Amino acid sequence: MDLQQDHQRRIATLASEIDQARTLGKRIGLRKSTSNLFRHRAPAGKHLIDVRSFNRVLAIDAERMTAHVEGMITYQALVDQTLKYGLLPAVVPQLKTITVGGAVSGLGIESSSFRFGLVHETIETMEILLCDGRLLTCSCREHPDLFYGFPNSYGTLGYALGLTVRLIPAKPYVRLTHTRFTDPESYFARIVERANSAVDYLDGTIFSRREMYLTEGEFVDDAPAVSDYTYMDIYYKSIQRKPEDWLTAKDYIWRWDTDWFWCSKHFHVQKPAIRRLFKWALNSRTYQRIMRLSYSVLPDSGGTESVIQDVDIPIGRASEFFDFLLSEIAISPLWMCPFKTRDSVRTWDLSPLQPGQMYVNFGFWDVIPSTHEKGYFNRKIERKTMELGGAKGLYSSAWYDETEFWSIYDQARYTQLKQTYDPHGVFPDLYSKCVRRH
Ligand SMILES: Cc1cc2nc3c(=O)[nH]c(=O)nc-3n(C[C@H](O)[C@H](O)[C@H](O)COP(=O)(O)OP(=O)(O)OC[C@H]3O[C@@H](n4cnc5c(N)ncnc54)[C@H](O)[C@@H]3O)c2cc1C
Repeated sequence: MDLQQDHQRRIATLASEIDQARTLGKRIGLRKSTSNLFRHRAPAGKHLIDVRSFNRVLAIDAERMTAHVEGMITYQALVDQTLKYGLLPAVVPQLKTITVGGAVSGLGIESSSFRFGLVHETIETMEILLCDGRLLTCSCREHPDLFYGFPNSYGTLGYALGLTVRLIPAKPYVRLTHTRFTDPESYFARIVERANSAVDYLDGTIFSRREMYLTEGEFVDDAPAVSDYTYMDIYYKSIQRKPEDWLTAKDYIWRWDTDWFWCSKHFHVQKPAIRRLFKWALNSRTYQRIMRLSYSVLPDSGGTESVIQDVDIPIGRASEFFDFLLSEIAISPLWMCPFKTRDSVRTWDLSPLQPGQMYVNFGFWDVIPSTHEKGYFNRKIERKTMELGGAKGLYSSAWYDETEFWSIYDQARYTQLKQTYDPHGVFPDLYSKCVRRH
């Protein structure tokens, strides 16, 4: 039995299981090997369908530069395969355990997004398993309503078990330049300028108002010297020291995973004496596991608030949001990633982003001291984001009331999609899942 046949066989098994659970009136959830969600909820009373085996590359077409993959394949596994052909997925979210299906369902982004848009804009087709066991292949021509309605649905319309991902040519190395700025205006102006240049990758790291770095990445065939940030050296600290650097293409893609950006500080592995002993543990998968364990054993001691968010702001209002973040939330470093939706006309139903508009994604993840009620600072961020015409990722905590939420997301369109693809409400709706944590 070849890979495709085996893929179809396993889908058929899953389809009958999901349909059976539905007829028994059970609510359904996913049993996955990994997750990068940051809102914790018990799968109470849910029938979890086991999708852990849907983690394979089914085919790579080097000529057409596409890869047909299963929905739960991690980008780590996919990149290992595509690099054998000198190719990379057009957009690779930078945590190794993020899966292709999860990045589409949760709006993935990375430093090539200024050129290729968000992850879902690099997908040609999707095979979606619906709650009644039907498998629909959708694309911009086939079932386009599901194709354009699925991104940002967080598994509330169905599950992507197969996807066709666009690939780009890759060279062996990436040359990086880190340029320092001391004022936000010239920083964001330079981003607009460089986003229209020929660089391959563009993101930024902000340590303070006077220490803002823009990092440009360019594919090259040769490198005078190659750095290694997979062990003792720490990537984000190199940005302040090295105006120029070289990494292998693979190490460039995973430059943030070794220290979960800078969040590894919470596990004390940035201290050399400890770091030396834990080479095997320096990755986001380990940190996620420890964090989930801590959630289950350590009670919330109060006195702090967890602020873990990715927020998209129109470039024209980025300085305002930056000022707000530094003065009202005071988290640093910040990750900055410019992007523009690829298609300047067609909108994606559950994405509140304006087509053709350039945005800046601000990523900030920390625990801050608080004497306020739970969610106080996260609420402030939500209100400011709405005021500036932005939107935030829904992979972490959300505090919107229902009216606010549906003033951001197209409720009428979502209701239509639900009525068509999940008429019995086997899956929770988007508000219940992303805010009420059902
Ligand atoms: C520190 C940090 C930094 C991050 N930075 C980035 C970033 O820079 N770029 C980025 O893209 N993302 C980033 N994320 C967010 C992350 O990408 C999203 O949470 C993403 O949705 C996770 O994908 P996953 O594969 O781990 O899916 P999960 O976390 O397991 O699932 C995410 C949601 O999608 C649903 N889902 C998962 N797989 C499928 C499927 N095949 N079909 C249908 N629904 C599915 C799940 O039900 C769930 O609701 C970051 C998260 C953290 C914590």
